[in-house]
Amino acid sequence: MKTAIVIGSGVAGIATSIRLQLKGYQTTVLEKNSYLGGKLTEIQLGNFRFDAGPSLFTSPNLIEELFHISKKNMTDYFDYETCDISCNYFFDDKTHLTFYADKQKLKNEIESKLNVSFKPLEKYLKLSEYKYEATKPIFLEKSLHKTSTYFSKKLIKCIQAIPKLNLFESLDKTNNKALNHPKLIQIFNRYATYNGSSPYLASGILSLIPHLELNQGSFFPKSGMHSITKALTKLATDLGVQFITNISVNELTKKDEIIHSVKTNNGEYQADIIVCNADVKTAYDTFLNKFNKPYKILEQERSSSGIIFYWGINKKFSNLDLHNILFSSNYKEEFNHIFNLKSIYFDPTVYINITSKKNKDDAPENAENWFVMVNVPSDENHNWEEIRLITRKNIINKINKVLDTNIEDYIIEEDYLDPTRIQIRTSSAGGALYGSSSNSRNAAFFRHPNFSEIKNLFFVGGSVHPGGGIPLCLNSAKIATELID
Ligand SMILES: Cc1cc2nc3c(=O)[nH]c(=O)nc-3n(C[C@H](O)[C@H](O)[C@H](O)COP(=O)(O)OP(=O)(O)OC[C@H]3O[C@@H](n4cnc5c(N)ncnc54)[C@H](O)[C@@H]3O)c2cc1C
Repeated sequence: MKTAIVIGSGVAGIATSIRLQLKGYQTTVLEKNSYLGGKLTEIQLGNFRFDAGPSLFTSPNLIEELFHISKKNMTDYFDYETCDISCNYFFDDKTHLTFYADKQKLKNEIESKLNVSFKPLEKYLKLSEYKYEATKPIFLEKSLHKTSTYFSKKLIKCIQAIPKLNLFESLDKTNNKALNHPKLIQIFNRYATYNGSSPYLASGILSLIPHLELNQGSFFPKSGMHSITKALTKLATDLGVQFITNISVNELTKKDEIIHSVKTNNGEYQADIIVCNADVKTAYDTFLNKFNKPYKILEQERSSSGIIFYWGINKKFSNLDLHNILFSSNYKEEFNHIFNLKSIYFDPTVYINITSKKNKDDAPENAENWFVMVNVPSDENHNWEEIRLITRKNIINKINKVLDTNIEDYIIEEDYLDPTRIQIRTSSAGGALYGSSSNSRNAAFFRHPNFSEIKNLFFVGGSVHPGGGIPLCLNSAKIATELID
């Protein structure tokens, strides 16, 4: 039987192991941590459970596909529900906008609270779908680094769409032209953060992202985001994949231009195919350090990172839902701080995710589990201890001001994540959440391909093509497996 090794058990690593096992490879996943899932993990603080990393779940069809090709019934492993509210937005002037999944309700909300017509937004969302459908077959589902991708009929559709893709201007500019209220512009600028970028630098093509959340919908896995890791690991195990934890890959040895063996802290492994799910920059700095480095790719700017506080709150806030944003009053300055000054603005945009709104077991009665996050630069030798303390104060000021409360009175459990901890726990260079940023126009072409010049070495995960976030990681697993085919 052919054999495969996957280095790392992030969501892309697990998805790749499922696909390779189905292709007839006896697959082993080697994971450095004592637990599986990489960023897609959970923490427990007293009686509170928190999803530690990703909180927004879109494109569940990509998970469903893994069960479908495995000929298993997904509901035996995993269940999710559709959210009727995608997000609550709060502004300093006390405007509170609820983005309902139902378009008629959203229209009423926007027209009544902002006093503007819904039509421009309706048009924007239709265009978002068009951009997504035109570019998906080329940019998201195929390798950008194979000539065969450019000889498909779908390329013609993509080329015809170019005038409508807003490729050559910033997302902020696209949104300013298309939307009719500063608050809507700010809301739709936020989508640049979905891959760790700035709306003032990244291309307007990112205006395709809202299609996923606002047209296709946002979803909640019934037992929290971490149940994605649990379900996919169980599926992989049922198919025969072997997972080994607490094992760190230290070196790959090459013989006759193929990887001959994988050296770890606990012995040497051999396989016909090696798939790297570790952050690509860290991989080339560590176990691939004797290989030719793709310098241009590795030098790309890192995406933003995050400071996250996990707070057990012994009060319930009826005006909050699963996803809540408390916007900065100067969004441009916030991103200037993150990407140019490499610091954190005193008035940051604060994201609060509360899974106990959906899953009562995540917090005690009359309490809530708050995941509170602000975007920060990736690590460049910052003093994170000092920054975290200042940021905590600024976050508390913001919450108190916008929600008319004194939140510190209610915090009964606390932990945090910062870029250093993210780097230590997931090996992501600089603690970047999404690999490299999309701030440059050519960013898509400067992500590492899913293959390498070594015939049996492949790459998947958020730091390589097509990019970060769960849906794109799942796509990377599919692209790499097709290339292995
Ligand atoms: C705080 C936070 C919030 C986020 N929010 C969202 C969100 O709302 N929605 C969304 O879609 N995405 C979100 N993301 C991004 C998303 O989590 C990632 O894009 C995705 O989970 C990355 O998966 P991956 O497959 O690249 O692997 P990772 O999760 O990066 O895991 C890589 C694994 O490789 C292992 N590894 C590394 N080196 C070695 C080695 N030498 N030997 C063995 N194992 C090794 C690591 O230990 C790790 O387990 C968020 C991320 C974070 C941290």
